[in-house]
Amino acid sequence: MLGKAGDSLAHNLLKFVSVDRETPEKRTADVRRDDFDEIFRNFQPDFAAEQAGRCSQCGVPFCQVHCPLHNNIPDWLMLTAEGRLEEAYEIASATNTFPEICGRICPQDRLCEGNCVIEKGFGGVTIGAVENYIVETAFAEGWVKPPRPARELEQSVGIIGGGPAGLAAADRLRRKGYQAHVYDRYDRIGGLLVYGIPNFKLEKRDVERRARLLADGGVVFHTEFEVGRDAGLAELRARHDAVIIATGVYVAREIALPGSGLDNIVAAMTYLTASNRKGLGDAVPAFDSGALDAREKHVVVIGGGDTGMDCVRTAVRQGAASVSCLYRRDRDNMPGSQREVSHAIEEGVDFVWLSAPEAFLGDRAVEGVRAQRMRLGAPDASGRQTPKPVPDSSFTLPCDLAVTALGFDAEDLPAAFDAPDLGLTRWGTLKISYKTMMTSLDGVFAAGDIIRGASLVVWAIKDGRDAADGVDAYIRAKAAGDAVAAAAE
Ligand code: FAD
Ligand code: SF4
Ligand code: SF4
Repeated sequence: MLGKAGDSLAHNLLKFVSVDRETPEKRTADVRRDDFDEIFRNFQPDFAAEQAGRCSQCGVPFCQVHCPLHNNIPDWLMLTAEGRLEEAYEIASATNTFPEICGRICPQDRLCEGNCVIEKGFGGVTIGAVENYIVETAFAEGWVKPPRPARELEQSVGIIGGGPAGLAAADRLRRKGYQAHVYDRYDRIGGLLVYGIPNFKLEKRDVERRARLLADGGVVFHTEFEVGRDAGLAELRARHDAVIIATGVYVAREIALPGSGLDNIVAAMTYLTASNRKGLGDAVPAFDSGALDAREKHVVVIGGGDTGMDCVRTAVRQGAASVSCLYRRDRDNMPGSQREVSHAIEEGVDFVWLSAPEAFLGDRAVEGVRAQRMRLGAPDASGRQTPKPVPDSSFTLPCDLAVTALGFDAEDLPAAFDAPDLGLTRWGTLKISYKTMMTSLDGVFAAGDIIRGASLVVWAIKDGRDAADGVDAYIRAKAAGDAVAAAAE
């Protein structure tokens, strides 16, 4: 920490008693329903400084403890309150590879802001928005530079997956001088930042801006390169000094109900990818034919997580006749961010709480979803109350497009990569040593959702950075061992 707020700073800080918590300007629901633009505008300078000045500069900053990257939040808030934005940017970017992305899409209510000590009674500091403001200022002022190393190293690292975990690893490895090669099966870099998360949460140009910086810094991107199809893991291991697997989790959990095979029942990622591609200007036949377009349809989304929230809000923007979200627990027990639920309600989504689907109805295509009311019983192992069916409580929702958003599992990577010795956890994710980030295969590391299961961008960034450090330690140890062996010969 830079030091406690002294007399010279006190006039800019500790303002939480006199200044109310404010977010940046939020576009009204009526306006934002009609486009896919981000719903918040950036802070204006005076406003950002004033909001940053609400921080009480805690001796034990719980905001920092609960940020997965342990960002030095109090210091960047103090510097923002003082108008010292270049220094604030240095601090914000020291621990976070993509702070402007986290500032936009972290569920701050569950992480930094939700644990801010002034949250109860005064409303937490708007940490994410200030983080975003600092970095947007840094981009505008030209302070954000590509990852150029002081010294080039000859060793190369192959990174499978160009999502936030792979990109954070590539950035950190480049800064250390390694030759970083990112292989991705998609045509664009960014993973779920591009094809999962909709524009109204994170605009694609912000991801493209980061991908460009990495390329300018010497990261080599091999797009439309699927490991398991275009090369095996063994080939990549032979090509590089180390490999990082950051392939995410994409196997959609299915729902086995009567009528599941009807047309117009789609998985969330199929639906969101089509919408994101359309927004990027791609030809998307399944969208253009109307199959994945919610326009004038009655849409029912099944699932109450963040992916479900993105689906309902996408359907609203596509001009659906009605959008309902079926969730078997109540709002307090939803896994999704409460902030996202509030946005969806403002935008006109109808939440059908305490309801579970029983069957899809229709002849060829879905025409309705029959659901059953639930009540909540005792808490389960996760602490959430277990839903129990209410007898004779069935009802039917009209539905022309049903979207299932029930979570994701990991692909069988040992089979896909022809690497039977790649160890798995009992959940099918890759097993690693959390000390080194190395898998069961020598020199093969892993990061992101593929080790955690479906998680968050901020955790993917943390893992990517940690995996890069693990690779660095591994390559150095190997080089030292080789030098000793050569000297002994
Ligand atoms: P991914 O982002 O999934 O990237 C993996 C990459 O690996 C992909 O580009 C893929 O093409 C590539 N790949 C996979 N297999 C291969 C192969 N065999 N060969 C080559 N390339 C391969 N998190 C938040 O923090 N905030 C949010 O608001 C949020 N919203 C979300 C909304 C949706 C709809 C979804 C699905 C997730 C959301 N998340 C959110 C979660 C977040 O996106 C993920 O936790 C994060 O992207 C994981 O990063 P990753 O790099 O591990 O994987
Ligand atoms: Fe908060 Fe996320 Fe930023 Fe950490 S990275 S300070 S959790 S917004
Ligand atoms: Fe400031 Fe809140 Fe963090 Fe305390 S917990 S240092 S008040 S942001």
